[in-house]
Amino acid sequence: MPEVHVARIMIMCPERERSVYTGMNFDWDEFDAVPIGEKSVRCPHCGQIHKWGRADAFLEEDGGEG
Ligand SMILES: [Zn+2]
Repeated sequence: MPEVHVARIMIMCPERERSVYTGMNFDWDEFDAVPIGEKSVRCPHCGQIHKWGRADAFLEEDGGEG
């Protein structure tokens, strides 16, 4: 049974320096292959809308917390 690594796409809030879940999930391999344009997400930490792109994003393994 193949192991699937589903990851949450996260960005860092520039105001609070805390990670923000963008609402998108990819598996680790897919993230490298999928073109990501400019996105935006409402930040739960500071309440602002943060624009983000691939360069801002990082992956966090789903199921974990923190
Ligand atoms: Zn924020």
